[in-house]
Amino acid sequence: MSINSSCSRSFNRLEKILIIGNGGRENSLAWAIQKNELVKKVYLIPGNGGSERINKCERIKIDINNKNELIEKIDSLKIDLVVIGPEIPLANGFADFLRKKGFKVFGPGRDGAKLEFSKSWAKEFMQDANIPTANFWKVNSLDEAQKIIYSSSIPLVVKADGLASGKGVFIPNSKDECLRAAETIFNGKFGKSGNVVVLEEKIQGPEVSVFALCDGERYVLLPTAQDHKRLNEKDKGPNTGGMGAYSPTPLLTKNCLDKVIKDIIEPTINELKKKNIVYQGVIYFGLMITKSGPKVIEYNCRFGDPECQTIMPLMDQNFVFLLEKCAMGNLTGDEKMNYSDKVSGCVIATSKGYPNEYKTGFPIKIGKIDSTDCQIFDSGTSLSKSGELLTDGGRVLSIVCQDKDFDVVFEKAYKNLEKINFDGIYFRNDIGHQVRKKFSQEN
Ligand code: AMP
Repeated sequence: MSINSSCSRSFNRLEKILIIGNGGRENSLAWAIQKNELVKKVYLIPGNGGSERINKCERIKIDINNKNELIEKIDSLKIDLVVIGPEIPLANGFADFLRKKGFKVFGPGRDGAKLEFSKSWAKEFMQDANIPTANFWKVNSLDEAQKIIYSSSIPLVVKADGLASGKGVFIPNSKDECLRAAETIFNGKFGKSGNVVVLEEKIQGPEVSVFALCDGERYVLLPTAQDHKRLNEKDKGPNTGGMGAYSPTPLLTKNCLDKVIKDIIEPTINELKKKNIVYQGVIYFGLMITKSGPKVIEYNCRFGDPECQTIMPLMDQNFVFLLEKCAMGNLTGDEKMNYSDKVSGCVIATSKGYPNEYKTGFPIKIGKIDSTDCQIFDSGTSLSKSGELLTDGGRVLSIVCQDKDFDVVFEKAYKNLEKINFDGIYFRNDIGHQVRKKFSQEN
């Protein structure tokens, strides 16, 4: 899949791009951005052990919280576009800060990031815009939570209102479990993020991810994806940041996607405008396809990980123009996607113990891998003083491949995984089971 030629070059300089963040998402963005011949250099702050394996990429090791040093650095490098990867700097208003200093930034301001950093605000936003989502109750105390939980006739899920690194959602099996979850949140497990709790109707159906690049007025859709949140095969075990993904997903048929656009995406963009929020960045729509149609489970104000690693190889060299157009507020709305016949899949290799406690610092050995339409994006790695690649996170590597069909894609990915090793390496063997023949009888 590629963005068609109507997304032509801009007239601004795009030689030097800065990406903020240190994960697989940021490395895959850097990889897609550097494909454009106008781009001479991609800087990552802080990046990770794999960033400098990517063509034209260089890490800058400064603390992004030291704003004066950062501004001096960006000024001296003459950065043409800043792309902010993770939610925390966005929620802290980092995009606003850079824009005020005159930089072109891809990433929403604090007002737009609220779609992600306050679940109750996002639910009220959807209510205002009549966007299909699970029913909800915003509660400020355990007493209030208790009353709703024990009077409710439907199963509920319990969520901390604020950012909680993907750990603030509980799916209880009983009312007592529900109450304990609310208690855990109110007792401060997530700090201020748990001052408010959202109780939500538990809904059912497969989950899919949709991404819209927005310039404050218009939007462009990227390929759809489905990720695997659970740690173990057959989608069992604890929730993780994501164990793998594939793109595009056949669950979003044309009819279903049309419905998503009409009932969810366009009302979201319109409601942002109505609330005077100039959203220049990506909106991630986490959707559940329920029996009564698609519903929003959550919004994110940044690319999902590992969906980003999965869809970046489907972008052509024009991708960076799209980011810049969003940052400038000048998408035309005609930047339509052309579907090629390639599909993409990503398998995440994690450290033993993830998503709970794990050790880091183990050497990573990567043998001779098949690099035909295959990429390895480092998610959590570092380099030792002697330059040896070491594990440095729960999710360590993203192994991504593209081909004509998903069976070949995952065959290549798993063959490459055989050539990769580090102490305690773990990955699921059934990523993409929804679209692989080998698993079709089980699904
Ligand atoms: P969130 O961080 O809000 O995306 O929630 C994490 C995961 O919890 C989702 O990917 C779903 O699998 C599950 N979840 C969240 N909200 C609901 C809901 N209302 N009903 C059922 N499952 C949910």
